[in-house]
Amino acid sequence: NLPLDQADPEVAAAVDAELARQRDTLEMIASENFAPQAVLEAQGSVLTNKYAEGYPGKRYYGGCEHVDVIEQLAIDRAKALFGAEHVNVQPHSGASANTAVYFALLQPGDTILGLDLAHGGHLTHGMKLNYSGKILNAVAYHVRPSDGLVDYDEVERLAKEHQPRMIVAGWSAYPRQLDFARFRRIADSVGALLLVDMAHFAGLVAAGEHPNPVPHADIVTTTTHKTLGGPRAGLILAKEEYGKKINSAVFPGMQGGPLEHAIAGKAVALKFAASEAFAERQRRTVSGAQRIAERLGQADAVQAGISVLSGGTDVHLVLVDLRNAELDGQQAEDRLHEIGITVNRNAVPNDPRPPMVTSGLRIGTPALATRGFGDEDFAEVADIIALALQPSYDAAALRQRVQGLARKHPLYPGLS
Ligand code: PLP
Repeated sequence: NLPLDQADPEVAAAVDAELARQRDTLEMIASENFAPQAVLEAQGSVLTNKYAEGYPGKRYYGGCEHVDVIEQLAIDRAKALFGAEHVNVQPHSGASANTAVYFALLQPGDTILGLDLAHGGHLTHGMKLNYSGKILNAVAYHVRPSDGLVDYDEVERLAKEHQPRMIVAGWSAYPRQLDFARFRRIADSVGALLLVDMAHFAGLVAAGEHPNPVPHADIVTTTTHKTLGGPRAGLILAKEEYGKKINSAVFPGMQGGPLEHAIAGKAVALKFAASEAFAERQRRTVSGAQRIAERLGQADAVQAGISVLSGGTDVHLVLVDLRNAELDGQQAEDRLHEIGITVNRNAVPNDPRPPMVTSGLRIGTPALATRGFGDEDFAEVADIIALALQPSYDAAALRQRVQGLARKHPLYPGLS
């Protein structure tokens, strides 16, 4: 029973190097966050050892009395936080949560209507190489080229034309709030189920900083590691009438033993997500993203051909449009990496450049807000980013400013 650094020095060294990377750079990948130390502890606990096929009180293994307590806490906390009737906390990830929902409620060949991947949707919303696009008949709706907003008239038209069994509302790269009531009306008009995938904005919902899709949707899925800031995993929230089908699609339909250590991490994260400190963090997250959008709307950025999709943001991310810039998405990502800021390049709607290059950047604020960044810090980050995307830039000076911010907000001071 040796500690990691003695049992496996190579893995230990890479873990240490990753901790140093997370501490010394500014993490602005919109889907990432820093889980609290209590979540890391729960995930690294002896719960790793336990088999618990089944659900609390109805297991196929003995010795589940303690994991039952933990899983029930996670379920009850998720129900209370989001106002859900039924919750399944076992999906290993967001993709498994969505796949389980399709498996529970659809038949192969059924039609779904989801946001196009190239317009901000997710792979699991019908991309042709994903399970959702291979097994189901996936039809895509889009954002309007004129303003970058979801084209609800098109959603309605496509719903009437294709009569989907399920409409999927949700996104991986979209800077505005969706109109869930409108999606509900469209779904009802064609007798479709409504799935909302709130993977990205669940933390904002928990904090009351974003409308809650739960009252409108038949099913809501989420990841627990993005704005929610917990372990890497998924959740399914459903109306009671779908509860049984959802549970049996997850287990035994798709998964075997649940990861009780991850479920413990979810329980801890859900407890924190109900606190005022969490709500305050989500407010800093959104206002930080708005600072970045505003800075990238200033004259020097406009002159360099940079703009922001939809003209701003209501959420935790900004989508930078480089279609009119000399710099492409890959070059912009590399430049920011060079000065110590991690983001990801992202296709923009009707992107003229290939998917491995792209004409966009997705910049997110959740991880830095968790680190303690406030408006002033985000204004400094915004300025650094805007200057780094100029035709000529002083990498050394910008790197120093990045390091100053990283030092000002130490990450995981209790970890070594
Ligand atoms: N749904 C949405 C909207 C996402 O953005 C993502 C992740 O990027 C997922 C689902 C999948 O989550 P995971 O990576 O945990 O499978």
